[in-house]
Amino acid sequence: MAAERARAGQSVPACSLCSRPAVLIQRERNRYLCAPHLIADIEERVGLTITRENMIASGDCIAVGLSGGKDSTALLLLLHTLLESRTDVRIVAVTVDEGIAGYREETVRSAECLVRDLGIEHYVFSFTELFGDTLDGILRGRESRACSICGILRKKALITGAEQAGASRLATGHNLDDEAQSVLMNVLRGDLVRLARNSSAASGGRFIPRIKPLMYIHEKEIAAYLLVRGAWADLPECPYACHALRREVREMLGGLEYEFPGTMLRLLESRKAVTGICSTRSAGEPFRHCAVCGDPCSGEICQLCRLRQSLNR
Ligand code: SF4
Ligand code: ZN
Repeated sequence: MAAERARAGQSVPACSLCSRPAVLIQRERNRYLCAPHLIADIEERVGLTITRENMIASGDCIAVGLSGGKDSTALLLLLHTLLESRTDVRIVAVTVDEGIAGYREETVRSAECLVRDLGIEHYVFSFTELFGDTLDGILRGRESRACSICGILRKKALITGAEQAGASRLATGHNLDDEAQSVLMNVLRGDLVRLARNSSAASGGRFIPRIKPLMYIHEKEIAAYLLVRGAWADLPECPYACHALRREVREMLGGLEYEFPGTMLRLLESRKAVTGICSTRSAGEPFRHCAVCGDPCSGEICQLCRLRQSLNR
């Protein structure tokens, strides 16, 4: 980032669109941006993604999954800014407290401050009230599976929260880095069905379409956006993150993106191509309903019920 050069005492390059000092370099586009041009660029690209992918329609109530971390904080700020003049769309925030000691308390507090400042309705759900225990308790002796277990339970908690808030869409803060990592992880696990599945495809029953308005914005652009909007907060990292395959993939992809700008975007485009090819085949078939709980799913039994059976809960 250009700001890092300034801290290191090196001269800061000028914005490619004006003469102000740059705060970020966009390597794919080979240009530098100052704070006002960075804000304008991010807001314009997120707005375009929402329009191009038909993410929001008149009458929608958008539940924003707000962990209090940087991605979801940026998402709520951006949606609040972009939808401010829309009286036909409502935003609410849903926070899930997984129960991770030394980590979650601070991010939940950060989420509470943000919704208070923006005047947004806030719903908070805990794993304890939904699943009878904290994530720390559920994971005892299974720490190496932390993220896959947490991911399944959190998805259910967010959907429950969105339903209780009367939302028609669930917005999550997944950024370009997250999405590219997921594509690669699905390939590495050999899970091509999941790779081809479109999580925002509408279907009947209790399915709430998910939208990811930040899916074309790099993680470092989000960090810079928060910094220049004065919304950056230093928060602790989840203690279970060290067990994740994602961590390895993240480092590898970060290196590839640096050497070959545009790598992450091309991975997303590959997924789109695979989803398109499969849309007439089995991966594109409409969701079925879980034989145990009745939730929409792609197989006989949903991921959550399979997990519950394996955990004896
Ligand atoms: Fe859950 Fe893993 Fe994220 Fe921690 S790092 S909050 S365990 S998904
Ligand atoms: Zn500029």
